[in-house]
Amino acid sequence: MGKAKIKKCALCGRQIKGERFILRIVCYSAYDGLEIEPWDLRKNFKKLIEEEVKKIKKLSKRKLMEEVAKWWEFSLCKKCASKYRKNPLRIKNPAPLSGAGRGDK
Ligand SMILES: [Zn+2]
Repeated sequence: MGKAKIKKCALCGRQIKGERFILRIVCYSAYDGLEIEPWDLRKNFKKLIEEEVKKIKKLSKRKLMEEVAKWWEFSLCKKCASKYRKNPLRIKNPAPLSGAGRGDK
């Protein structure tokens, strides 16, 4: 019947022949808690809430979801996956993740 779909690497564009790696990226709004300062208490909360509700009503459901969280899924070849793991954001001098690489020589 149908052949398995040929997957291409999302980074180099080559056909993935060996091991295939899945890269999932999720970008979502962080919840850093709610800090209320004394001067916040003088705000008109009813008005602020009404304004927020108005803004939300104007946005489409899709747009609203994208503002909260967005995710992607890519297939990568082994070579690109290992490259990606070293520096996912392609930052010049990436700070190592805590604990990552410790003990390596
Ligand atoms: Zn690749």
